[in-house]
Order: sequence, then structure tokens, then C-alpha cells
Amino acid sequence: MGRFYITTPIYYVNDAPHVGHAYTTVNADALARWHRLRGDETRFLTGTDEHGQKVADAAAKNGVSPQEWTDRTSARFREAWDALGISYDDFIRTTEPRHYETVQKFLGAIYDNGYIYKDVYRGLYCVSCEDYYTLESSDQGRCPIHGRALTEMEEENWFFRLSAFEDRLREHYESHPDFVTPETKRNEAASFIRGGLRDISITRTSIAWGVPVPWDEGHVFYVWYDALINYMTAIGYGRDGDEVATWWPFSHHLIGKEIIRFHCVWWPAMCMAAGLEPPHHVQVHGWLLMGGQKLSKTMAAEGAVKLTDIAPVTLTSEFGVDPVRYYLLRETSLGNDGEFSHEGITHRYNTDLANNLGNLMSRVATVVATKCAGVGPAPRADSELAPLARAAIADAVEAWDSFSPQGALESTWRLLSATNAYLEEHAPWKMAPGVDVEAVLGDALEVLRLAAVLATPAMPAVCAEIWRRIGLTGSPEDATVDVAATWGLYPGGLVVEKGEPLFPRIRIDA
Ligand SMILES: [Zn+2]
Repeated sequence: MGRFYITTPIYYVNDAPHVGHAYTTVNADALARWHRLRGDETRFLTGTDEHGQKVADAAAKNGVSPQEWTDRTSARFREAWDALGISYDDFIRTTEPRHYETVQKFLGAIYDNGYIYKDVYRGLYCVSCEDYYTLESSDQGRCPIHGRALTEMEEENWFFRLSAFEDRLREHYESHPDFVTPETKRNEAASFIRGGLRDISITRTSIAWGVPVPWDEGHVFYVWYDALINYMTAIGYGRDGDEVATWWPFSHHLIGKEIIRFHCVWWPAMCMAAGLEPPHHVQVHGWLLMGGQKLSKTMAAEGAVKLTDIAPVTLTSEFGVDPVRYYLLRETSLGNDGEFSHEGITHRYNTDLANNLGNLMSRVATVVATKCAGVGPAPRADSELAPLARAAIADAVEAWDSFSPQGALESTWRLLSATNAYLEEHAPWKMAPGVDVEAVLGDALEVLRLAAVLATPAMPAVCAEIWRRIGLTGSPEDATVDVAATWGLYPGGLVVEKGEPLFPRIRIDA
């Protein structure tokens, strides 16, 4: 048994939760569920980032205090995650007292260690990023992310001596080749460091809505600094040293590629400066891109023109929670950019879920009802499906372990396809009742049981329902995967229920 501490970035409260947020969070959730199934002691952290000028501005515009505004907007993320079946263990808000305490102690340690000093900062500032750019790092004076014109700013700030960590970061990347995955993103981060690191300003005087700098009244920490420290707050930094020692060596940050610089350069350097090890691992994912595809009527009615306009609940109400989770995990390999489209999700739904998994469940249950009086038979130890199942299990375990939900689901679905082909070949619906038909159905029931185990991190509700329909008690999450994912454990002699189709086919309008 190991430990697994996985985090999402904390989401900015001025955004409404959208499919991009859901993509990150569903991946983190599936990985957390996988590690629980592994028997690992698991902690899954998500939350909201609540400081900064934009939040203060939005609050003022809405005539409420920043705290009231963040209370209101943070709640929308919790609602979205509840709707998507996200099993977080902790939801952090950066306005909580525990976070103020950790930020002040963490940055206080960096200050005490001599890595923070005062200077005047001049630079080009993007209000949306709440970040400075140099002329070179800008897009000809415009923000490379937001496209808006950058403004000249000058203020007296406290600076973090990032430049002091160039060598140590380089060494860390060399001695920890899997610190950042996938490799393309690791190379991107390493090239930031090779390009040379400049000290960065970490406080503001122009903003009041932030965590106060304990050693200099009138300064607050720049929102990005306070935000990164949330990963420490949640494991009790400054409050409980044992918790940090328990979880920090097993930390995995799941992040989008737009925040590589913060998580793969600044953050490990900050940890070093505070006298800690860098995080164990950063897994970077790409972006979901929406091309020129047609939108569903609901999306169009809601005025969605881009991915960030689509609320997760718009999708779950159309396709169901688990199919949306499945699509987000299955369609795109974690690390690459992916396409998001209404056609794409409909296609996955019909092909993988309705025609493959759903079809297998319903035809097995139907034939068990007609040929076996509704009682599911046991599988055979020497079934021709057994070696296929063993290979699929090994591949799925390996893929889940290496942050590839896509690979894990692909392996699992390969077994489902082979089982549907096996049924076609043997056509148990044409066979006379007896041992032959029982053998074929027992094997297929065992595949359904195994698929429910291997896919439960992706589709917990559907897999629990399959479990119930094939007559098993409890849920696929009850036993650890190394016990449950073994060919031949379906006991037979259980009542199998047909029920409604798990995934009614979606008709595609021409
Ligand atoms: Zn920007």
C-alpha cells in the first residue's frame, strides 16, 4: 500500500465552471478513485483561488464585499463538482484562515532564509493574468494569453530570489527525469530554466484583497504566490509537521499547460527556498479545443461559442454524468491537446457505451433470462476469454498507474469488444439450454464484472449498476483491484437483472 496526494489547480472564482475545469477535475478524480481502488491512502484536493484585483473589482461592481462575492462564486464550483460525482477529500478556499496562516509561515520561512528582498519593480502588467511580462515574453506589447494591451506599472515590491535556484532546479530536473510528465512538457519547463531565471516580485501595494505580508504592513502577497501555497495549506504546513511529512513526498499536481512556468519553475524553487523538497510529480495536460463543429441545441441556446462557455451541467443533462466523464477521459490522452465536439461525444456515447458496453450487458442479461431462468452461471477457468482478460487487466493497471486514463479505458474496451465478438461467434441465443450456453454466459458475466472494476474510476455510478445487475452485492470499489481484477471470481448462481438500457442510443439528426 502506498500513498497518493493529488491536486487540481485551484480555480479562479471569477470564472464560471466550464468544460475546461471539468476536464482537469474529472481526470484528477478518476486518478484518485484509481488509487483508492489500489488500496493507497489517498488525498484528493481541489478548491478555489479567491484573491486578486479582478475579484475585488467584480465584487465592487456587484455591490458586495470581496468575501461575499467569493462565498457566492466559490459555491458554483462545488455545485459543478457535486454534479459530476467528484470525490474530493478537501476543498480549499484561499480566503480561509488556515490558508492565511500557512502562506504567512511559508513565505516567512523563505524570508528568514534570505531569499526575499525589497526593490522597485517596473514592468508590463496584464490585469487578467495578474502577472508581469517582459517585452520579449509579451506578444508585441500584448498579453500572449489574453491578447489585451499590457500596461506599464511601477511599484515597490518584495522580490523572491528565483535566480538563486537556477542550478538547483537544473540538477533536480536531471536527477528526477519523471518530475514533469509528459516529456514534451518537461522539456518545455527545463528550457524555461535554461533560458535563465530572473527574480520575481511577489507582493503588491496597489491591491488590498490578498494575504497580508507579515513583515511589512500595506503589502499583500501577489495572488499567484498565495495560490500555489494552497497545496501546503491542505496538508497542514505551519500547523502540523507530521501531515506534511506524510503527504508531501507523494504529491502529484495535475495542471494545464498554460501554468507550467508557475508549477514547474516557481513552485519547486519556492519549496527549496522554504527548506522543503519540490513536489514529487507534476502531470501536465493539454487543452481541449473546440473547432467549428455544430453545437447542440442546448449549447447554442445558451450562447456557447467556445469551450469556456459550456457549463458542465449542460453536458451532463444531455448525456448523463458518467458518459461525460467517460468522454473526457477516453477521448484525449493526458498531455496532448484534444478536440471537444458535440459530434465527438455523441459518437463515443453510441459506439463505446451504447453499442459495446451497454449492448453486452443487455444481451447477456436477456439470454440469461431466456436460457438460464435468470440465474447467472459461473465462468470457466480455461475460457478462451481468460488470457485476453489477463492481458487487458495488466494493460489497464499499467495505464491507470502511469496517469493514462485513456489507455486504461482503451484496454478495458478491447476486452469488451472481444467479448461481444465471442458472443456473436457462439450465439448463445441460438443454443439449447444446458452446460454449453451456461459456459458462454458465465464467461461474459465475468467480463462484465472485470470491466466494472477496471472502469469504476471513470464511471462509478454505471459500474456500480452493472455490479448490481449481475447480482453482486456491494460495489466494484469494495475490494482492492489486485484482488478483484482476477479472472474467475464471478461466483455464479446469482440473479441477473436486465433492466432498462444502460445507455439508450442517441439518434443523430441528419
Ligand atoms: Zn493575460
